Amino acid sequence: MHKHWLRYGTAAEQKHMIKYKDKYDGIVINASMLAHTAKSISRFIHSEVNNKPYFIDPMTHAFQHDLAKIKNDKNEIKSSIEKLIEEYGSPIKEKIEKGQPVKIDDFNTDNLANFTLSVLGFQYKHIFASLDDELKEYVEYIGNYKKPEFLIAPYFYMTKLNSSQWLPLNEKLINKSLEHKDEYNRDIYAQLVIDKSFLVNEDLMSKVIEKYSNVDGLIYWVDDFDETTASKEELSAILKFVKDYKMKNPSKTIISLYGGYFSQLLLKYDLSGVVHGLEYGEMRGVVPVGGGIPRSKFYLPALRKRINGSVIAPIVFHEVNNSEEFYKKICNCSVCKKNIKQDVNTKNEVLKNFDEKYLLSRPIEINYKNGSSRATEFPLIESKIQCLYHYLEEKYKEFEKIEKIEITSLLSELINDRDNFEQYFSVDEIAYIDRWVHVLKDD
Ligand SMILES: [Zn+2]
Repeated sequence: MHKHWLRYGTAAEQKHMIKYKDKYDGIVINASMLAHTAKSISRFIHSEVNNKPYFIDPMTHAFQHDLAKIKNDKNEIKSSIEKLIEEYGSPIKEKIEKGQPVKIDDFNTDNLANFTLSVLGFQYKHIFASLDDELKEYVEYIGNYKKPEFLIAPYFYMTKLNSSQWLPLNEKLINKSLEHKDEYNRDIYAQLVIDKSFLVNEDLMSKVIEKYSNVDGLIYWVDDFDETTASKEELSAILKFVKDYKMKNPSKTIISLYGGYFSQLLLKYDLSGVVHGLEYGEMRGVVPVGGGIPRSKFYLPALRKRINGSVIAPIVFHEVNNSEEFYKKICNCSVCKKNIKQDVNTKNEVLKNFDEKYLLSRPIEINYKNGSSRATEFPLIESKIQCLYHYLEEKYKEFEKIEKIEITSLLSELINDRDNFEQYFSVDEIAYIDRWVHVLKDD
């Protein structure tokens, strides 16, 4: 079972995913990124990570929003999205050319079938069809064309308000995809992309379970869902959804497309897998589609959360007197053991080590579209990489541990870990751990 999925971000991250290839199970790729940099991704997937399963998020929701969300600063459609529009064709292409987002009425029997085939076909073959000639010969020789683990039916984003329109279309797209399952010899999954108003609406969620149970598996993504600020009601709704889906479909897969430690704990309640990015992909807004500046923060294992440099540095200073204490209280992963030198015996030296390896940044100025600008700090690449490696080490350990240890022990460990650091945070900031435990314990 592939539980731990990593989201492919940029070509620059390939080397990290290769270096850490033994510490996750599979790879997830956005269709827009694939369309944009197909050759590079194809090479990557056929490289040292060629034993990893992968799947592609077809990103069909990109075309239903205000078009500003898929445009660049020059008011043109982002080049990454543009290639995907070519791949998907009608009715998306005509609509976007007219400067209009796609709507339910744009689909009719003919173009719905063609659109579905374009979206499935793109996922099925774009990676191996984009292999350059040199590599193709070799891959052909060893007979190892990489095909996706499963295909995802085209989907659109739903809120409570618009669900009466998009839900029936999503159902049609699922059913049409299933008609073509045999052609691809691949499982067909549905992707549920919703906002919080939809999530906490029991009627809608049970409707989804009823309508989305004919597929072979389900991927879900709640817009901008931050597990550390989510309410008990929202967290309970996620838990209930996973359990209800599995109760109706015991042998099927259900995967959280963006998730942190709370989602990982749901693996104990039959969630099949969790996807996260390289450091900054535990949540995501549905729009804008693509983009955003990745921020480097240090993942504090005890709190299962990434913490800003300005907050973590004083914590390290106050809590840690020497390297041994750092390993004990903050982190003892192989990256930290290398970065915080073994023979360090004073607070100041530990902090210096920590700062130099994880927190160095340089000032930059961000210029906004409206003409204003703001001075901020941008992490140095090497600091970002060390934060990332430490994060990947810890995530791997978390998945391993969750596999082996029962939920009650995981929860009491979480509370103990929290107790060691809660004095540094406001009540509101740290309350997420109580909410997680409350939701999962009551169950
Ligand atoms: Zn570490």
